Amino acid sequence: MELCRVQENMKLDISEELIRRFDVSGPRYTSYPTADRFHPQFTEAHYRSCLAQRGSGLEEREKAALSLYIHIPFCASLCYYCACNKVITKHREQSATYLQYLDKELQLVLQNLPQREKISQLHLGGGTPTFLSLEEMRGLMNNLRTHFDFADDAEISIEIDPRTVQENSLHELAALGFNRASLGVQDFDTDVQKAVNRIQSFAMVENCMNGCREAGLGSVNFDLIYGLPKQNLGSFAKTLEQVISLAPARIALYNYAHLPTRFKSQRRIDAYELPSADQRLQIFLMSLRRLQEAGYVYIGLDHFSRSDDSLAQASLDHSLHRNFQGYTTRSECDLIALGVSAIGKIADAYVQNTRDLPAYYSALDAGNLPVEKGYHLQKDDVLRGELIMQLMCARDLIFSDFEEAYGIDFKTYFALEMRIMASYADAGLVELKEDRLVVTRKGRFFVRALSMVFDTFLQQKTEAQYSKLI
Ligand code: SF4
Repeated sequence: MELCRVQENMKLDISEELIRRFDVSGPRYTSYPTADRFHPQFTEAHYRSCLAQRGSGLEEREKAALSLYIHIPFCASLCYYCACNKVITKHREQSATYLQYLDKELQLVLQNLPQREKISQLHLGGGTPTFLSLEEMRGLMNNLRTHFDFADDAEISIEIDPRTVQENSLHELAALGFNRASLGVQDFDTDVQKAVNRIQSFAMVENCMNGCREAGLGSVNFDLIYGLPKQNLGSFAKTLEQVISLAPARIALYNYAHLPTRFKSQRRIDAYELPSADQRLQIFLMSLRRLQEAGYVYIGLDHFSRSDDSLAQASLDHSLHRNFQGYTTRSECDLIALGVSAIGKIADAYVQNTRDLPAYYSALDAGNLPVEKGYHLQKDDVLRGELIMQLMCARDLIFSDFEEAYGIDFKTYFALEMRIMASYADAGLVELKEDRLVVTRKGRFFVRALSMVFDTFLQQKTEAQYSKLI
């Protein structure tokens, strides 16, 4: 019954004309303001005081739940399309040193937290978390469990590189408590794989997927990328069929943004081998159609989920949320982030660690938290952040909710934004009602553009370059 409801609601079609008109470059809004607005006047002293005040004045049940993010920056080889903060190395011993420093950072965080905490989510990202040996992974998880309690239903997830994980290690990961996995797949075509220096056969990914299932890492996400060199409509259609045959619960279909002046590794990509803008559009439209035919629900931005997955259910009943990993079924938490370049959030502050590994080590050697920058949210930021999350997740803004929570008159406070929204309403992307603004099914593709209308920071200059949906 529930499945039928999801499937009835999932068919979305979108015209080329609308995409050409409204697909703008913009942030993905995994935070508001976005990380390029964080500044160095936010120091480690500020972060210490945020940690010390976590939950102060609140009953235990009123405290925001707590998540952990751990960044493992190492990768054994370079994927040319990569825009992540990573360290390419063949020296396996580097991870042992890094884990010692992660522990130093953890101890400093613990010294500042007022009490022992319960963790509702843990995510290991990178880089390549599976660069760690099993022994190291065991040590890391034991260390975390020594210092934190984990909720019985905690979501414990890890990014897996199918090239660096053995089938038997998946059982070990499950035994350590991991219950979600995200696999970097990108594209199965061998010419594309050669052009981006990431060779992994279908059999390798299939084994990894089967291993995840057998081990009990039930909900598996695949990351795919379109717009890579040597890709074309036919080759990507074939990749998609192979992906569908493995039936991952979730799929993130990212658009490759070629920014070689900003990301050095991308200079190894021959721009002449990239598909044209029109080819990318056709690849996206084909993928959208084919994934829906295969039973996937379009969640928003680059995300799809199988109709029996909890993300599809959450999309249907408007209970989706967004965090630094993208769409989630879990409500917003405080987030302690450990490791080089990691971004956390405690109450009304965002904090980001240094992106440079030697600087990360030096700060910890000096007994300091390795904070590079951060941001204290003002009331207007909280209001706009909440509004943008509502647009992206519930897709329904009820004006009175904001008026009660923030003491504003919605239509007066957002007079300019509502005038702009009228043009989106004319194009059929939103419906403007007396008491609310509703994102239509078509509008779901353009939530990034809709959100940007409410982003005051976009009127200020930034060096950030954002990607487009297509
Ligand atoms: S795409 Fe992933 S595995 Fe490849 S270099 Fe970047 S972080 Fe490492």
